[in-house]
This record gives sequence, structure tokens and C-alpha cells, in this order.
Amino acid sequence: MLKVLFAASEADPFIKTGGLGDVAYALPKYLNKLEVDARVVIPKYKNLKEEYLEKLEFVKSFNIWVGWRNQYCGIFKCEVEGVTYYLIDNEYYFGRDGLYGYYDDGERFAFFDRAVMEMIKEIDFKVEVIHCNDWQTGMIPVLNALQYNKDPYYSNIKTVYSIHNLLFQGTYDPKILGELFGWDEEQFRNGMLEFYGGVSFMKGGINYAHKVATVSSTYAEEIKTPFYGERMDGLLRSREQDLMGILNGIDYNSYDPKEDTLIYKNYDVNTIKDKKVNKTKLQKDLNLPVSAKTPMLGIVSRLTPQKGMDLLVSILDRVLQEDIQLVVLGTGDYGYEEHFKNLQSRYPDKVSAIIKFDNTMAHRIYAASDIFLMPSLFEPCGLGQLIALRYGTIPVVRETGGLKDTVVPYNQYTGEGNGFSFANYNAYELETVLNMALNYYKDKNIWESLVKSAMNSDNSWEKSAEIYKKLYEEVTN
Ligand code: ADP
Repeated sequence: MLKVLFAASEADPFIKTGGLGDVAYALPKYLNKLEVDARVVIPKYKNLKEEYLEKLEFVKSFNIWVGWRNQYCGIFKCEVEGVTYYLIDNEYYFGRDGLYGYYDDGERFAFFDRAVMEMIKEIDFKVEVIHCNDWQTGMIPVLNALQYNKDPYYSNIKTVYSIHNLLFQGTYDPKILGELFGWDEEQFRNGMLEFYGGVSFMKGGINYAHKVATVSSTYAEEIKTPFYGERMDGLLRSREQDLMGILNGIDYNSYDPKEDTLIYKNYDVNTIKDKKVNKTKLQKDLNLPVSAKTPMLGIVSRLTPQKGMDLLVSILDRVLQEDIQLVVLGTGDYGYEEHFKNLQSRYPDKVSAIIKFDNTMAHRIYAASDIFLMPSLFEPCGLGQLIALRYGTIPVVRETGGLKDTVVPYNQYTGEGNGFSFANYNAYELETVLNMALNYYKDKNIWESLVKSAMNSDNSWEKSAEIYKKLYEEVTN
């Protein structure tokens, strides 16, 4: 059985801040169904969910070098739904609140990446492929290629590097090469890690991994262009032969309106009318006027420019003149948080702004809303729209990245489609398609057929897990 170690900086159900956490939970589970022994390794953060912290089993500990520092490295283990998770412990690096955003993130993940490489020799699991994800694990392929591969124990290990978001590149002062990795200047001069005068973990991952993947076909093409390439488009073009887009799925058990215990009333494609109960109950809970017929617009998102917040900010005042309700759940940039709070205070009967990270509330909004807004500037894959589709909530999106690959715009002549979309990053285009969607909402038959086709869209992991398996086989043969 193929043995894959999935290295990530977050994984549900332990801890998650976004899409990567969903992927690190679901993909290994689906791979295991395909006879791949996929295990996961993440840092043992202080804020791991309490119920899992209690379940962790200590495996062993050893010391590792982070540049000149000699650091403790503990390994814990836990099985969830048949998948083995390893958690890397070091109080100094991970015994803090939250996940990212510390001044020494570079050092924390330099430690983590080295710890993953060292752990491979210490556990009873002969890894064949390390699947790394985003900048935090970008140095694993580099460590493997420059150092560990020379040791016979590691010499057959291959690396796959997935880009979930090219925006976050993990770029640090070149001094870290000596300070944290013990390498000389040559590793900077040869250009493989050097990025506009700094050292980028992301660039290291892209350059040194055997194969590079990203999370949708459209994003795989987009990042080879200057607009989406975040200054790495040239590098990605140079690795074009080894770069592929594999669409993320969602875990159909975690997101299932029929079984979901977090929502008010379960429903499926045959009992769509029960979806309305979710709307009226949420309206009551959020102190909005209870009205089954008022269209509810939902947003569950990081509140950052990537997610198209500027477009929303510029149209919402106008849209809110209509009979609609808007429920926003998100955290992010202060200015956007304040904007939504301000909208709520100006339109208390129409807007509810919930500025926090709250999984239960997220499920309730997906189930209750009629329309899900996701007009992203760029979107590697996007899970929000996939979850919305599953709950029969019609996505209104911009045609970029995974949004373009998963939302089929409604065609009034053929009746095909599961959402609404617009092409250019332009507030008027968003407003036009949103108004179009709101008009169709008034037509019960059209809307119901849209909801049905949304709920029947297939975005499970099955297909994509097969493609990952093929990729691992290709890389190990
Ligand atoms: P990202 O770029 O943030 O990874 P995705 O759409 O790929 O965007 O995934 C976001 C995931 O995080 C989804 O599962 C979404 O429901 C969830 N999420 C985002 N913001 C919140 C929040 N404030 N509370 C709860 N869940 C959230």
C-alpha cells in the first residue's frame, strides 16, 4: 500500500482557519478508501480542540537542530475516522494562541519542516511520498532534496507540493538560511530560494518538489500569468510540465443538509421546503424580522481583499434598499469588519454582522441563506461555494479559479446552471448579476430548479482523490 505523509499547518477537526484545514481532514480520509495509507502531520498548537487534546497519545521525543539551536521535538499521535494524525510538539514554538501571524513564523515552520523530516525516521511508517501544502511546509521538499535524500533511508522519498494560496509566500531575510537551516550562501546565490532579495519557503517548495499541484484547473492556468502569479508566474511557467490543477472537494459527511446536527432542520433535495425553516429560525436567533419570503444573502468568509470585499462594500448600500436580508459571518481586516458592523447598525432589520469564527453559525448560514455571495478577486478553489451548493444556496461568484470551475451560470434558455457569475472585477457587474439572481428568486419554479441542480452538483472528494492517487503513483514509479 502506498504510504503518504500529508504535512500541513492545520487540519480539521483539530484546528482550522480556512480551506486548507478542510482539505487536510477530507483528502487523507478519501485516499484511505482508495487503499492509500495516508497520514497527516500538523503542529501541536495550544488551541487544538479540547476533546482531541485529551485523546493524544505520546509516541516519543528527541532533539533536533534548527540552525545552531538544539530544540525539543515531541511526537504525539491520534486516530480520527481511521486516519492517523501525528502532532509535533514544542512549547516554545506552538504553545501560543492562534496559528500564524507571529514575528518568528519563519523559525516556527523551519522547525516544523525539519521536525517532519526527522520524525519520518522515528515512527513506524515508511513514507514514500510527502505531500506538502502552502508556504509553511515549503521547505520540506528543499530539506529532502538538499540533505535527507542523501541518506539511504530517505533516498526514495518523493515530494508533492500543493499551492492552496499563492499570496502567502513565507518570505524572510536571507540570514535564515544559515540561522535556521545551517546552509551557506550558495543556496541563496543559485536563485532556487531567493525571492526579490529574500528567501521564500513557497519558492523552495515549487522549485524542489517532484510535482506541483494547485487546487483547480483554472487557478493552475491563472498563476502562470502576471495578474494572478504574485511575482511567481515566471517560476510557475518554468515548472509547467510538473504543474497540475486538481479540484478540491468537500467532505460529504461533514456537510450534509440531511444529517447535519448543527442546523435547525434537516432537508434534502426532496424536502427543499424544510430549508425555509432554517431561514426563519436563524432570523429569529439573529433578531431579524421573521419572513420566509424575504431573500437572505449569506457571506461566510475571511474579510480580506481576496474575497471581493471591496466590490461588496461598494454595492451593499444600494442593494439593501430592496426587501432583502444579509447575514455576514467572518473575521479579517479591521476596515471590513467595521463596515459590516456599521451596515448592521444602519439597517438593523436587514443586516446581521457576526464578526467571529464560528463553525456552528457557518453551517446555519449555509442552510438558511438563499444566495451565497463570493465575488472573489482570486480564488484558488474556494470551499464556500461548494458548501453553499450542497445546501441548495445559490452562489453568486466571480469567474475566477475554482469558482469558475464549479459554478455553472444559469442559462434562461436551457434552464441549465447552478448559480450566477460575472467575469470582470467590477462592482456594477456584481450588482447586475445579483439583481438578476434576486429577480429569478421571485419565480418559484425557476428558483426551485436552480436549488435542485445546486444540490445535485457533485463536489465530493471521490474523483479528486483518485487523481491524487495517480499523481503519487506517477511520482513514485
Ligand atoms: P479560504 O481562502 O479562507 O481557505 P475557502 O472558501 O477555501 O476559503 O475555505 C474557507 C473555509 O472556512 C470554509 O469551510 C468556510 O465555511 C470556513 N470559514 C470561513 N470563515 C469562517 C468563519 N468566520 N466562521 C466559520 N467558518 C468559516
